[in-house]
Amino acid sequence: MSEFDAIVVGAGPAGSSAAIKMANAGLKVLLVERGDPPGTKNVSGGILWGKDLSQIIPDWEKTAPLERFVERKVTSFLTADSEISIDFKTLKFSTDRTGYAVLRTRLDQYLSKKASQAGATVITGITVDSLHMENGKVLGVVNEEDTITSDCVILAEGANPRVAIKAGLRQPPGDDDVALGIKQVYKLPEATINERYNLRGNAGFAGEYVLSFLEDDVYAGGFLYTNKDSISAGVVVSLSKLRENGKTRSFDIMEKFVSHPFISRLLEGGQIQEYSAHLVYEGGYSTMAKLYGNGYMIAGDAAGFSFSNGMVIEGMNYAIASGIMAGEAAIQAKKEGDFSDQSLSRYGRMLEESYAIKDKKTFRGIEKVTWSPLVHRIIPRIAENSMMKLFNETGEPKDHVVRILLDSAFDQGISKSDLLIQGYRLMRRM
Ligand SMILES: Cc1cc2nc3c(=O)[nH]c(=O)nc-3n(C[C@H](O)[C@H](O)[C@H](O)COP(=O)(O)OP(=O)(O)OC[C@H]3O[C@@H](n4cnc5c(N)ncnc54)[C@H](O)[C@@H]3O)c2cc1C
Repeated sequence: MSEFDAIVVGAGPAGSSAAIKMANAGLKVLLVERGDPPGTKNVSGGILWGKDLSQIIPDWEKTAPLERFVERKVTSFLTADSEISIDFKTLKFSTDRTGYAVLRTRLDQYLSKKASQAGATVITGITVDSLHMENGKVLGVVNEEDTITSDCVILAEGANPRVAIKAGLRQPPGDDDVALGIKQVYKLPEATINERYNLRGNAGFAGEYVLSFLEDDVYAGGFLYTNKDSISAGVVVSLSKLRENGKTRSFDIMEKFVSHPFISRLLEGGQIQEYSAHLVYEGGYSTMAKLYGNGYMIAGDAAGFSFSNGMVIEGMNYAIASGIMAGEAAIQAKKEGDFSDQSLSRYGRMLEESYAIKDKKTFRGIEKVTWSPLVHRIIPRIAENSMMKLFNETGEPKDHVVRILLDSAFDQGISKSDLLIQGYRLMRRM
């Protein structure tokens, strides 16, 4: 007989959500986290799109450590001299809140505490080394000399899932499947943040930037999110481009982002409180792991959930959703006393019905757009040229907007047919 009904590896959003779901249903659950306390090993930008949390914590919007809700969302191209933005703010987000800025150390501790209150045993500061397996069936986890047994294991170990890889349950992520995220938290008075970002109360700003001013062929995006009395600033750098380039250092890109004239003035006077780096899972649908098997399921980033199209980075929401579904599948399996591949396949079916897999399928190939020269170089230059022609009064005769756009495009040395093909691909994948 196993010591636990389920062991969950990793107390990120996926693992803690799975543990809460199962413990609430009376399962005997062990949640193992290498960070002590949970969250100390984790990095998110991070905006939490947390609607799924209400399934396991109905009052999460009142009790979770949420910094500010997103009222203003900016998507920008940053060239050396210019910023071209879509700046969307709506009062509708005050009543129908969609995203909240969070700090992971606080969020992860909150979620793991909820798992513990629901009855799960939570152990921290312990790294699971490998799975205990017999004849292809997962029977528990191994830490150093100790084996702990369970009827099923939920692997929620994040973007670099070493335990799953070691057990041959998934391929290691390639350079194109992960990007490198770097983040700094700047302490600033609440009143300064409100004034600088045009905010009131607990309304917040979320900005994502394409860093098209980078000189060499390294591609990176940047983000700025307002917390109550700090700013989370960071970059996400294409790992394959970084490796091809071979000489640019990722932290120099971070430095260039925060020193850009339009960014530095938003951070001015801020004291750096925290510096962290982490992989961001970026692989498409075809890179996803098999999500279940005899005695195991894989959830969150470890399975390949998470999504970025340059305008948003999402992952915590998919992690929570997949964790809850893995928990639900384990509850059903417990009722039937059957943790076989066949029984746990209901996890796969639930995911197929949910936005988690549907988004992966809808945006198949998006990573080719996110990290394309079109997005990182050509469109920003076309946009900057067009804006200069539109808004710079020179005393010369003016052109129609379409003419300006076309001329700006051809100025980039791109042919009409190439532009059409690349534009079509972009629209299809977005
Ligand atoms: C720079 C950056 C910005 C991001 N911005 C956003 C954002 O704004 N919004 C958003 O939704 N998402 C964002 N993401 C993505 C998001 O952080 C992830 O999708 C999300 O954290 C995945 O949750 P998870 O529970 O699957 O994995 P994780 O959060 O990575 O949690 C995995 C946990 O497992 C633990 N662990 C790993 N291996 C072991 C082991 N062997 N034994 C014990 N414990 C183990 C780790 O310590 C960790 O606590 C961002 C990511 C980065 C890096």
